[in-house]
Amino acid sequence: MSNASEIHTHVRTRIAPSPTGFLHLGTARTALYSWAYARHHGGEFVLRIEDTDVARSTQDSVDQILQSMHWLGLNYDEGPIYQMQRLDRYAEVIARMLDEGTAYRCYTTPQELDALREQQKAKGEKTGYDSRWRPAPGKTLPRVPEGVKPVIRFANPLDGEVRWDDLVKGPISIGNREIDDLIIARADGVPTYNFAVVVDDWDMAITHVFRGDEHINNTPWQINIYRALGAPLPLFGHLPVILGDDGQKLSKRRGAVAVSAYEDEGYLPEAMLNYLARLGWSHGDDEIFSSAQMVSWFDGSHLSKSPAQWDAAKLAWVNAQHLKQADDARLAALVARQLQRRNLVASDEGQLAAMCALFKDRCTTTAELADWLAMYFAPVTPTAEDLAQHVTDAVKPALQSLVLRLADVVWEKAGIAQAIKDTLAEHKLKMPQLAHAVRVLVCGRAQTPSVDAVLALFAREDVLARLQRA
Ligand code: GLU
Repeated sequence: MSNASEIHTHVRTRIAPSPTGFLHLGTARTALYSWAYARHHGGEFVLRIEDTDVARSTQDSVDQILQSMHWLGLNYDEGPIYQMQRLDRYAEVIARMLDEGTAYRCYTTPQELDALREQQKAKGEKTGYDSRWRPAPGKTLPRVPEGVKPVIRFANPLDGEVRWDDLVKGPISIGNREIDDLIIARADGVPTYNFAVVVDDWDMAITHVFRGDEHINNTPWQINIYRALGAPLPLFGHLPVILGDDGQKLSKRRGAVAVSAYEDEGYLPEAMLNYLARLGWSHGDDEIFSSAQMVSWFDGSHLSKSPAQWDAAKLAWVNAQHLKQADDARLAALVARQLQRRNLVASDEGQLAAMCALFKDRCTTTAELADWLAMYFAPVTPTAEDLAQHVTDAVKPALQSLVLRLADVVWEKAGIAQAIKDTLAEHKLKMPQLAHAVRVLVCGRAQTPSVDAVLALFAREDVLARLQRA
């Protein structure tokens, strides 16, 4: 990385989701980068729940976030740490800042702030708080109104510039005149995001803050608060947004943005991580890699400055590659769950694993795999078109002889293949003619992997019964 953090030695990163919904794909990507960076450097990764927006935070969201982190395998070394359990600590820091004059009480009411904004707009001025309650030498403050609980504001430096060398975006600077005095604690004492995040990152000795670039405008305030507290600055890296297929910001309205939805749809966590990793970072031309490889490569370089585009087809492709490599017994357990949702029970896991091995090459998700394998656990209904096209009068006599042969063979791939071969010879048919008819009747569709292998995984009685429907 190009510039040094003021805390050099031991890398500590964090992810700090607000529990106001599921784990969003963008947050998952930030979590992945933070995790991989910490792991790469042998440091720690912390999970913090930023629940100070009491009205919108829910336990259900916390549970969903933890579940998605677990599913992705983004294991954290500390946490979850809840901000609402740290109120005493925030109060202590605020008391110190009030003492030192880097924060002050402000009694401006919301109505007064509205009026101020209107005036500023009417004059064509930039809107913002006018520091009326900010103490200054020789300044007389307004009279403290009765019954109004103050908010606490940060006394932002009046001049100079805030600058930092962003790990993703490069050097950024902004004049302090552009920034007003931020509210750091509400009237009920609950701190605001920009303050709590600083106290936490400081207390938790976070060295590298990765987050979405929607927070870029918050960073100058945060840096000023670090300075006011005499706290060492971490490094900041602001990741560009993820755009949907349509070029708009990825949002709920534009498809699945919850990590959990992808779990439900049968994506593999390692494929999600692989795909998310490539959304804003690259390692040469590598497209398919494991989390361990990513950890060994992820040193904070090659992060993209420009927005990434979500590409559902690419994700499906990445998932398909990982599915091919996945262990069959593991896939069997995942597919069993997908089958269960369709009210189908696969009791023989070894058999299910063999089915996964046979079909996984042609599937993108475990849900699709379950769609294929459902034929082993429930009756199929071939379409009238398929029946008419493939189960023709020319083939029907051959199907009958095949039934007789199959009733007798050793029930495994080789025996079944021999029965098919002998039937073809007897009836002078070509392989596709018979194989298509068998597939339509037994599997409910005309295309499958090699028919002998497919049949061998059925119970003999099921195959015979389905063929006899012809
Ligand atoms: N709670 C903030 C969010 O979810 C965290 C931002 C940060 O990482 O500082 O956007």
